[in-house]
Order: sequence, then structure tokens, then C-alpha cells
Amino acid sequence: MRLLLVEDTEELAQSVLRFLRAEGHAVDHAPDAATAEEAMATTDYACVILDLGLPDRSGLEVLRARRRAGDRTPVLIATARDQITDRIAGLDAGADDYVVKPFDLRELSARLRAHARRGQGLPETRIAIAGLEVDRAAARLWKAGDEIRLTAREWAVFDALLGARGRVLPKAALEEVLGGFDTLIEGNAVEVYISRLRAKLGQGVIETRRGLGYVLP
Ligand code: CA
Repeated sequence: MRLLLVEDTEELAQSVLRFLRAEGHAVDHAPDAATAEEAMATTDYACVILDLGLPDRSGLEVLRARRRAGDRTPVLIATARDQITDRIAGLDAGADDYVVKPFDLRELSARLRAHARRGQGLPETRIAIAGLEVDRAAARLWKAGDEIRLTAREWAVFDALLGARGRVLPKAALEEVLGGFDTLIEGNAVEVYISRLRAKLGQGVIETRRGLGYVLP
């Protein structure tokens, strides 16, 4: 998933970025309100994690401005345990959920997945598709009852195709998904991961649309 982390505390931001990138997400980082608003206005995120105490303006103002502009991107606000009024104000301003700092990164990740699914209009977590059973919230899948284990990168590519299912995803979109990992992407990385996924899932699951991209029909 493409995510935006709005957080001015550098150390916290780095640990969240490291964790989410290791999970296969492409995460942008905005250290202040101006950068956050610009990023949200120009990029389509699956979900945004928004700190409210930012150096230039309050995160609440960013949220209100984006909602006024018609932006429906799921937003999770991050607040300290004692900032109950901020939390309420955030939800009133159009936040979808909140996390309390210091947050458990696995919980944050699960909530991000849940909200991104809702943002895509896919609230269900268990999906049956092409002879597979998929639990997106748990990032697990089964074929004929046997669990298939995917690496974080394989899952990231599969999950992107699943989120778009029925719609062709261009190679560039999958490169962006893989770009969330720290390592450099080779020119044929997408083909490599698609072929690994086909070997694990079966040949008919992911279709190639020549010159356009890949689709989970
Ligand atoms: Ca802050």
C-alpha cells in the first residue's frame, strides 16, 4: 500500500517508516503540515497516519483542509494518551480512527490494512478468489486448505493486485509497491515477483495484459 506518515519527531518517524517498509508498504514521510497537505493533494494514498502536534500548523488543520477539498483518504490520527480533546476534535474533523502513542507497530499496521480496505470499498477480510482463500487483515492465504507462505515483497505485490482486482495494474504501480523496500529495484523486479507468485499460486491467477500490466480477474 502507498502510505503517508506525518510525524515531526524524527526518531519515531524512522522507526515507523522502517517497520512499515519492511512489511512491504511504500511510505512517504512528511515532517510538517505544509509537506503533508501538499503530499495528500498530489498523491493517492491508501491511508494517512497523521500526528496532530506539528511544527508549522496543527494536524487538525491539515485534516480539515483536505476534507473541505473533498479528500476521502482514510486518516488515522496519532495522539498522546492524555490528549482526549484532540482525539475527539480529530474524529469530528473527519479522521477515521486514532492510535494512541506510544503505539504498537503491529496494531498500527493492522488498523492501516483495515482502513485501506474500507477506503477501497472492501470491508471483508476473508476473500475467495481464483481458488484461493485470502485473509488480507492477517496477510495470509490458502490454496485448497493449505497455507501458502509469501515473502513480504511477494505479499505486497499480491495485495496490490487484490486491492485493484478486476482492474489492470500497470507495471509502474507495482514497481512503486516494491519501491517501499529499502533495496534498489532492478528493472525486471516486477516480472520476477509475478513469476514467483505464479509458481506459488498457480499459473491462472495473475493475468498479464501485454503493454498494460497485470490483473487479478
Ligand atoms: Ca509531533
